[in-house]
Amino acid sequence: MRYLKLNSNETPLGPSPKALEAMRAALANCHLYPDNEAKLLRAKLAELHQVDPDHVLVCPGLTDLLGIIARVFLKPGSNAVTSQRSFVVYPAATKAAGAELIEVPMRDDAFDLNAIAAAMNQQTRLVFLANPNNPTGTLFGARATDDFLRTVPDSVTVILDEAYSDYAHYFAVQRGVEYSHSLEYVREGRNLLVLRTFSKAHGLAGARVAYALGPKELLHRLAEVQSIFAVSLPAQAGALAALDDLDHIERALENNAEGANLLSQELLQLGFRVPQTWGNFLYCDLHQDAAAFAQRMKAEGVLIRPLGSWGAPTAIRVTVGTPGQNQTFLHAFRTILSRD
Ligand SMILES: *Cc1c(COP(=O)(O)O)cnc(C)c1O
Repeated sequence: MRYLKLNSNETPLGPSPKALEAMRAALANCHLYPDNEAKLLRAKLAELHQVDPDHVLVCPGLTDLLGIIARVFLKPGSNAVTSQRSFVVYPAATKAAGAELIEVPMRDDAFDLNAIAAAMNQQTRLVFLANPNNPTGTLFGARATDDFLRTVPDSVTVILDEAYSDYAHYFAVQRGVEYSHSLEYVREGRNLLVLRTFSKAHGLAGARVAYALGPKELLHRLAEVQSIFAVSLPAQAGALAALDDLDHIERALENNAEGANLLSQELLQLGFRVPQTWGNFLYCDLHQDAAAFAQRMKAEGVLIRPLGSWGAPTAIRVTVGTPGQNQTFLHAFRTILSRD
């Protein structure tokens, strides 16, 4: 059976044709090692974000980089602070570094920045903030982040995970909200890292390429721990070309905003409350065993994510698809509810 895969926040539009072409062309040079410094890609990202290329570090996905960040900053006896129901990699990376993760309760399914500020102690070295958050889709605005950063001592490095920044920025413009001052923080040389990836809106999750923006010295410490030649030649070429395909990204963002609005409305009409999403997925509390529900969805051919491992055993996360895929999801969803 071929499943409709709505469980990993991948884009339904696939990679940009330009990225595909660039990756195919790069295959012919795969007898050569990639550029360890990813100079072309860093230069392009630096220009795009108006920062110095020294403030950009390219990596083979944020999952890998988060592991490195945890190893560099944490050790047994120290801790990192984040929210409950956030990105699964934060606990895994913190645990692998032998440190403690303090997970602060949410407020209205969103990061509670005041509670996170209050939870930091003498042993805290990192704070992980996912904005928007995966899996709840919620956002904290630019002003709230400014205020939060004023409470952070010099001994703590803030990890501002903006994996869904393209989607969030698109929604923020539509909704008249200021999303993030993250690039300004980078230009000011603040003690924080901004994380971005090509896995989401750019459709390159399988190629493994992402980047961090931050102070040069800090990126240097991470680069020292990174494997040499970590980002493959096709991945670098694909990312470079993906940045040029603005039409493809725009289509992905438009499709997502329309699909997210439709799915939220339909779920609301079925009696479920869905927090407003700023990413390419929805969080929905089903008020029933979500793992069993996901199993029944699978039998209908649709994969969704039950959130028991996130401490939300009655909630699911579903990725926004194409209009046709969204209808397939809704049809399966209604079919299962009608059998209850
Ligand atoms: C998907 C995602 C990432 C990106 O992971 P990659 O390893 O770059 O594919 C990072 N943070 C969050 C919150 C995510 O949801």
